[in-house]
Amino acid sequence: MYRYFISLLIFWVAHLGLTATAQPLAADEFRVTLLGTGSPAPAMNRFGPGVLIQAGGKNLLIDCGRGTTQRLWQAGLKLGQVDAVLLTHLHSDHVVGLPDLWLTGWLEAAYAQRKGPLVVLGPVGTQNLMDGLQQAFAWDIKARIADQGLSPEAIKSSVTEIQPGPVYNSGGVTVTAIEVNHGDLLHPAFGYRIDYGRRSVTVSGDTRLTDNLIKHASGTDLLIHQVAAVRPELLKLPTFQVIMAHHTSPEEAGIVFSRVKPKLAVFYHFVLLGTPTVPPVTEKEVLDRTRTTYPGPLIIGEDRMAFQIEPDRVTQMPPRSP
Ligand SMILES: [Zn+2]
Ligand SMILES: [Zn+2]
Repeated sequence: MYRYFISLLIFWVAHLGLTATAQPLAADEFRVTLLGTGSPAPAMNRFGPGVLIQAGGKNLLIDCGRGTTQRLWQAGLKLGQVDAVLLTHLHSDHVVGLPDLWLTGWLEAAYAQRKGPLVVLGPVGTQNLMDGLQQAFAWDIKARIADQGLSPEAIKSSVTEIQPGPVYNSGGVTVTAIEVNHGDLLHPAFGYRIDYGRRSVTVSGDTRLTDNLIKHASGTDLLIHQVAAVRPELLKLPTFQVIMAHHTSPEEAGIVFSRVKPKLAVFYHFVLLGTPTVPPVTEKEVLDRTRTTYPGPLIIGEDRMAFQIEPDRVTQMPPRSP
């Protein structure tokens, strides 16, 4: 009887959350989903940075911030279906979801089922990060191999520490790492351009306004860009000066968009700074300030927004049910 209840419990746990309905990709579809559009702030409406790129039968994940694992499942993907994680840089808000994706994706449950090592591409330091996670979670890994018979192979990670240039080529999908400027002490930091046939998306990562991103993003269909803003009266605070010096303001982002001329520009990774007495810049103000330098197509991104890159246009997909 006891064993029966245990197996029932295992069944229930294994199928928890199976209500997430997969929206299969049409043949030749190129889909981009914003999994998280937030910053380190522990907000419920904006999880940590994460962008899912799906094309050519590949599922690529750019960054793995807080909540990426939940958002992946909401997007209809098993955690084990991520073909590669591409890290823009190693700031914690961009990688703090990685142990969750790596460890939870290893489980046998229907939402997980990774069959081999987690493939991770990122800057120098990425190998150290993954080695450290192996050590930090040694007890769990050893226990689950011995107790649940999980695959020792599938809890490994396969890390490539990348340089600027082509870093991935599979299923007709090519990824180019673009060196960006996140500040003198914060390198290397990358943006990524993903090309599939004649269509492409570029994700900025964290950067100041830099010509190198504009150069490599040139001609891209969809440009997903971070934005940071603070009210002028708070700019005298050294902490905020440092943060602003590492990011792109709305007016600067508008300059980038005007030069790149994407079919659609989308903001993600909102770093909107405030204090208990001075409220943060609003999203409406971000939009208005961007409009001073860019009149073209622009969307304030939200978690779970998805886009289709078609040969002649970029369209926003209808919102998904919870
Ligand atoms: Zn950063
Ligand atoms: Zn960041």
